[in-house]
Amino acid sequence: MEAQSPWEIALRQLDDAAEALGLDPGVHEILRHPRRALAVSVPTRMDDGSIRVFEGYRVHHNTSRGPSKGGLRYHPAVTMDEVKALAMWMTWKCAVVSIPFGGAKGGVIVDPSMLSMGELERMTRRYAYEILPLIGPERDIPAPDLGTNQQVMAWIMDTYSTREGFSVPGVVTGKPQSIGGSAGRQLATARGVVDITLATLKHLGMAVEDARVVVQGFGNVGGGTVRLLHEQGCIIVAVSDASGGTHNPAGLSPQGLEAHYSQTHSLTDYEGGEAVTNQELLELECEVLIPAAIEGQLTMENAGRVKASVIVEAANGPTTPEADEIFEDRGIRVVPDILANAGGVTVSYFEWVQDLQAYSWSEDEVNDRLRQIMEQSYADVLALSEEQKVPMRTAATMLGVRRVAEAHRTRGLYP
Ligand code: NAD
Repeated sequence: MEAQSPWEIALRQLDDAAEALGLDPGVHEILRHPRRALAVSVPTRMDDGSIRVFEGYRVHHNTSRGPSKGGLRYHPAVTMDEVKALAMWMTWKCAVVSIPFGGAKGGVIVDPSMLSMGELERMTRRYAYEILPLIGPERDIPAPDLGTNQQVMAWIMDTYSTREGFSVPGVVTGKPQSIGGSAGRQLATARGVVDITLATLKHLGMAVEDARVVVQGFGNVGGGTVRLLHEQGCIIVAVSDASGGTHNPAGLSPQGLEAHYSQTHSLTDYEGGEAVTNQELLELECEVLIPAAIEGQLTMENAGRVKASVIVEAANGPTTPEADEIFEDRGIRVVPDILANAGGVTVSYFEWVQDLQAYSWSEDEVNDRLRQIMEQSYADVLALSEEQKVPMRTAATMLGVRRVAEAHRTRGLYP
């Protein structure tokens, strides 16, 4: 029977890592609970004058290594359970890449594509106001995630700053460069996914040139990954968004896809490929499969039919534990989310550092430092995985949990 919710999956991953580490039972119990979880109502005036009340959340899973950090998700399927899981994964992710943050996540149950710009702005500002007690540059720093973007971050920064009476750029990351955003942040998650994909192919002795790649999701992360891997010489054989995708074994042109998508908001009718469903896409012939959309895509139902040699998790939580076991048995390497997509939070950390210092770095400097951190983190996780003879997900979780547990041990328990 598959574990149902992302939170159950996150707990199971923690329990596995705790067992492998021989973790202190008290610290293990602390880590099984989010530090604080806030649920808020977000009343919003719609353009027709009516009022709608949206439900939102902000969860701090852990703050023992520094302020908590994590994205804000706008999606109709958001639940408190999902936000808690995503916050826990952020805790391990920040520890895996050794940046001084804990883990958090936020979400609002809403389909942002159904709101006008005015409605989106009013909803975002009211949500920001409701979570004000939890956020701040020393407390908790939101960033974009599924369904949110630079503009949403700018509204949150402005709402917080207006209340303070002066500009506080360090309260969010992933904001526009004109108000303190970092060069290279937009593409940072995708760039990190690419750094990790190249490191994996190199380690496995597989060629980058002509490696066939399938990407699920054509948003910030998926779209960027397609473009950057194509630049590296990979063949992009299929991509999709929520409504389906397009497939061409001879390769798709990222420029062609982007031009078509910006006009039609659809991939299935792209003239350069054949339409595929999201389920078919996951089972296509390829060397590298990159889920870059939502959780729970690779399950015990379809894992046996996946043909990729390597799965690089750009999305958070795309693989269930049962699918992980099937991939392990079949010798398919899964590079876990908390390592593979950590480029976003790493450059968010760079952005926060630049904001606190009121000093900005060049894009080359950002990308170089990002690559160094991603390559080092890959090497750390790989070494632990080989030493302990465990899959990379267990090794990455062990590494993250060990670093967080160390902070707990050193700080002690209040009071
Ligand atoms: P986005 O909103 O920009 O894009 C999401 C894409 O997924 C869209 O193309 C959407 O159509 C597609 N999608 C949505 N539901 C789908 C479904 N049921 N089946 C197939 N495709 C679907 O979001 P994003 O920022 O690119 O985030 C994508 C994933 O990457 C999420 O799991 C997110 O948590 C993770 N992530 C994002 C960042 C970041 O910096 N943005 C960082 C780390 C991890």
